[in-house]
Amino acid sequence: MPVSVFAITLKLERAIWLTYWQIMKNKSTKTIALLLTELTRNNNCRIFAELKKEATKQKVNLITFEGRTLQSKSYADKQRNFAYQLINKARVDHIITTSAAVPDSLTSKQFDNFFNGKTEQLIINYYLKRPKQHSIRVNNSTGSAQLVEHLVNHHKYEKFIVIRGPVRDANANQRFATTISSLEKYNITPVELQATWDSQASIQVIKNIIKDYPDYQAVIFPNDETAIAALDYINNFKPEFKGRFAIVGFDNSENAKNISPQLTTVDHPHAAMAQKALELINTQPSEYVDAIFNTTAVFRGSCGCHGHIEDTCPTQRLFTGNYNIEENIQALSHDEYFEKLSIALSERDILSCSICLYQSEPFKLEATTEVPQVSKLAFQYYNGTRQTEYENQAFDTALILPDDVYQQKQPQCLLVKNLFYNDAHFGYVVFDLCQGRIQDIEDLIVNISTTLNIIYLFEKMQSALKENERLVASLAKDNTNLKAISATDEMTELLNRRGFYQAICQRIENTELTEFSLIYADMDKLKYVNDTFGHQAGDLAIEKMANVLKSVFRATDIICRIGGDEFVICAFIADENIVQQMTQRVNSELAKLTDLEFKISMSFGIYLCKLSEDFDLENAIKQADKKLYQQKQLKKHGLIL
Ligand code: GH3
Ligand code: MG
Repeated sequence: MPVSVFAITLKLERAIWLTYWQIMKNKSTKTIALLLTELTRNNNCRIFAELKKEATKQKVNLITFEGRTLQSKSYADKQRNFAYQLINKARVDHIITTSAAVPDSLTSKQFDNFFNGKTEQLIINYYLKRPKQHSIRVNNSTGSAQLVEHLVNHHKYEKFIVIRGPVRDANANQRFATTISSLEKYNITPVELQATWDSQASIQVIKNIIKDYPDYQAVIFPNDETAIAALDYINNFKPEFKGRFAIVGFDNSENAKNISPQLTTVDHPHAAMAQKALELINTQPSEYVDAIFNTTAVFRGSCGCHGHIEDTCPTQRLFTGNYNIEENIQALSHDEYFEKLSIALSERDILSCSICLYQSEPFKLEATTEVPQVSKLAFQYYNGTRQTEYENQAFDTALILPDDVYQQKQPQCLLVKNLFYNDAHFGYVVFDLCQGRIQDIEDLIVNISTTLNIIYLFEKMQSALKENERLVASLAKDNTNLKAISATDEMTELLNRRGFYQAICQRIENTELTEFSLIYADMDKLKYVNDTFGHQAGDLAIEKMANVLKSVFRATDIICRIGGDEFVICAFIADENIVQQMTQRVNSELAKLTDLEFKISMSFGIYLCKLSEDFDLENAIKQADKKLYQQKQLKKHGLIL
C-alpha cells in the first residue's frame, strides 16, 4: 500500500474511532479539564479567563477542577486535591495542567499514574515541559530584562534586592537567573534573599529588608503574590515606608491592579497561549509541541512611575445584601438552606449551581481513597430558580453531573470543587462560571461545605436523640414487662406466690375492709391424672382449674397459683357460707367440663381473716392450708364427696 493511502487509512480509522468514542460518550462537544490551584489568586484567574474566552468562542466545554499543588505535604492541600480525582474520561477529553497544580517535582511515572485513565486524549502542560506531552511555556527572560532595563535606565536605581522563589522550581530559577544576569550587564550586584511563591515567606522577607536594608531602592520579587503581600504589609503595618522601595513582581495577576500602588510586573501573553492550547486540541498534532511565548514588562506605580494612569479594576465582591454570605445563609435543614441558597445565587447572578453528595457516609481521606462510584444530586439551581425536579437523582459520579443536567446548556464552563469539612469528605459542588463573580462563588462554596456539615451533624444528633428516646421508652416497657413476668405464673397467667404477696399487701394497705376470706385450694388426685393420662393432661387440668377459679371468683378477688396444683384465693367476702357456695360452684363448673378424658375436682380450706395491727398473712395461709388438709382427709375417708 502506498504510504499516502496508508496514512489516509490511518487517519480515517482514527476519525472513525474518534466518532465512535464521541457517540459512546453521548457527547457533541469536546471537553477540557483544567487543573488549577486557587482561581482567585496569582495568575490563575487570567489563565482561566483567556481559556474560557477561547473555549466559548470555539464551543468547547471547559471544566475547571480547583485543588492545590499535587505532591504538597500540607494536609489542607491534600484535602483540596481530592477535587482532581473527579476528573474522568466519561466527561473529559483533554486535560490542561498548570505548573502550580501539577509541579515539575512530580516525576513522569507519578504523572502517568495520576492521569492514567483520566483521558484518552491530549494533555497540555502550562509552564513546564514534560516528555511526551505538549507544553505551553513562557520565556521569563524577555520580561525580566525589560523590567531591569526600566528600573536601571528610567529610574536610575543602583541598589537592588532580588528575591528568589522556591529553590527547586524551574520557573523560579529561570526568573532569578535572568534577573541576576540582566543586572550584571549594568554592573550591579544585588543582595539575594530567599522566599517561596507565597505571601507568608515574603512578609518575613520585607520585614528583614525594612530592618537590614532600609537604604536599598528596588526589590524584585519572584511573582506577584509575594510582591503584593509585601506592599500590603507596608500599607497596613509600616505606612511610613510606603513608596520607600520600588517593588516589582512577575505574572501580572488579577490582584496586581488591586493593590496600592498598582504593581509593576511582567505579563504573560495569556490570550495567545489560550489560542495555542485550543489549536493543539483542535488539530491534535502527532509531534509533541513545545510552544514558548515571550513575556513583557508592564509598568505601573509600584516601581516609582508617577503620573501613571491606573486602570480601574473590577471590585472583588458584589454587595447585594447588607451582610456577608455566611451571615445571611444559615439553616439547620436542607430544604431551608436550599431555598436561601437559591436567593443568594440569583442575587449574585450566578447561572447554575449543583450540589452533589456521595452516596456514602462522609469519609476520611487515605492515600488510596477513591471517589465513591455513586452520587446524588442534592440541589440543582439553574437560570434563576431552584429546579427540584432534577434533585435527588442518583448518578454515576464519573459523569460529574447527571446527563439531563449536564446537557442543559452547551458549551459548559464549570468549576468543580470538592466538599468536605475538617476530615469528612461528602461530595462536591459544580458552578457555572460563565456568569457571576468568582469571589462570590468561592465564598458560596465555603458556605455550602460548612452549612451542609452543620446540617449533617444536626440531623445525626436529632436521630441519635430520637433513638435515645426510643431506647429509654423500650427500656421502661421492658421494665414493666419484667415486673409483670416476675409476678405472674406463666402457665395459668394467674399471680404467682410473689405477685400474690405484693397484691394482697397493696390491697390491705388501701382498703377500708376489716374482714376477708383466704381460701387454700388443691386439685384432687393430680398424681393419678399425671400417671394415667400423662403430664400434659395434668397441665391441662391445672389450666382448666385456673380458668374456672377466674370465672367463679370476682375480678377484684386475688387469685394465685402458689405452686403445683395449689391455689390461694383472697376473696373480699366476710361470710363463710357464701364462700362455701362459691367453692361448690367451682366443683360443679369443673364437673361440667366435657373436653377432658377424666373428671377433676378440688378441695378447699377456708379461713376468715380479721384485719388488725398484728395481722399475720403467713399464719392466715397456714390456717387455710390446715382446713384444706382436714377436707382432704374427709374426702380420702369417703366422709364427703
Ligand atoms: P391429693 O388429691 O391429695 O391432692 O393428691 P394429688 O395427686 O393431687 O397430689 P398432691 O396434691 O399431694 O401433689 C400434687 C402433685 O401434682 C405432685 C406433682 O407430681 C404434680 N404436679 C405438681 N405441679 C405440676 C404441674 O405443673 N403439672 C403437672 N402435670 N403436675 C404437677
Ligand atoms: Mg392435689
